[in-house]
Amino acid sequence: MTQTTDLYSMVLGGLMGQAFGDAFAMPAAMRPEDTWKRYNGWLETFHPGLDDHPAHHGLHAGRITDDTEQAIALAESFIEDQGVTVDGVARAIVRWYERVGGDESSYVGPSTRRACQALRAGADPRKTGIHGDTDGGAMRVSPVGLINPGNIDRAIADTVTACMPTHFTDVAISGAAAVAAAIAAAMVPGSSMDDIIAAAKYGAVEGRSHGEVWLGASINRRIDLAIDIARRDTSEYERIVDMFDLVGSTLMTSETVPSAFGMLVMSDGDLMRCAQYSAAISGDADTVAAIACAIAGAWKGIQAFPADVIRTLESANPEYDFRGVAQGLTKIAQERSA
Ligand SMILES: [Mg+2]
Repeated sequence: MTQTTDLYSMVLGGLMGQAFGDAFAMPAAMRPEDTWKRYNGWLETFHPGLDDHPAHHGLHAGRITDDTEQAIALAESFIEDQGVTVDGVARAIVRWYERVGGDESSYVGPSTRRACQALRAGADPRKTGIHGDTDGGAMRVSPVGLINPGNIDRAIADTVTACMPTHFTDVAISGAAAVAAAIAAAMVPGSSMDDIIAAAKYGAVEGRSHGEVWLGASINRRIDLAIDIARRDTSEYERIVDMFDLVGSTLMTSETVPSAFGMLVMSDGDLMRCAQYSAAISGDADTVAAIACAIAGAWKGIQAFPADVIRTLESANPEYDFRGVAQGLTKIAQERSA
């Protein structure tokens, strides 16, 4: 009984962490100095999207973005199919794409858009992801980790499947596998930050051996670079600027994923600091934050979240049943670990 409760707490923590990071960092600007100036330092609370932001203008405070919407869509398909299937993932992403009016939306990433247009024209979901190299596979992968507590190899195998319809290049799979493996490791009771990072690096290396051979820097080595920066003896803000300048936070998987691990290490998994640092890094800050906080949330469990954060996320995103989805994922995780 205790075990079930602990598992549910970690699954809901991971899902809520994803939503929290995403929504908290959504109002960031493109560059660290601009975000810093706009908010007079660290973000202290949820804010609406900036009016001049190409994708987030008009979003209200606490609102999640494509990262969490797609993660939940994937999670729902896992619950429907009782596991991760190529067809289930393709169906989930196309359903999401149609719901957000993908053809006309500035909100859809380049790999997902290309794949969804091909899928809707009837293409084979095993072929539509062969040019997908951006961070969309990694930004939505948290449920893959959450259904595989402690089972890092299965998390990596499921990641390959989950990336196939939209992000089936070695670099995109490498980044997504690093994240899923980190979450699977974080859910082992008593796991340390070193355990999580070791799993991430293992996932990055294993993940790179799948999918189309493509152009992309080493996720594994860039995680090391990000952690080196995170542990420098300079001010927090200086480390954030160094992370932005040297590791990066564009849509490239080899930037966003390593930066997310930098934020995770810099905050030592403290959810609020993790979200604040990730917002400050700017650029694709919501994706950096969604990834970093999903790992932190799975590690710390739902009890680590302030009650008002959960209330805000639930009221700002009323169409999403975070607890129901977490229950469905917990059931799969439980059956797999039995
Ligand atoms: Mg986003």
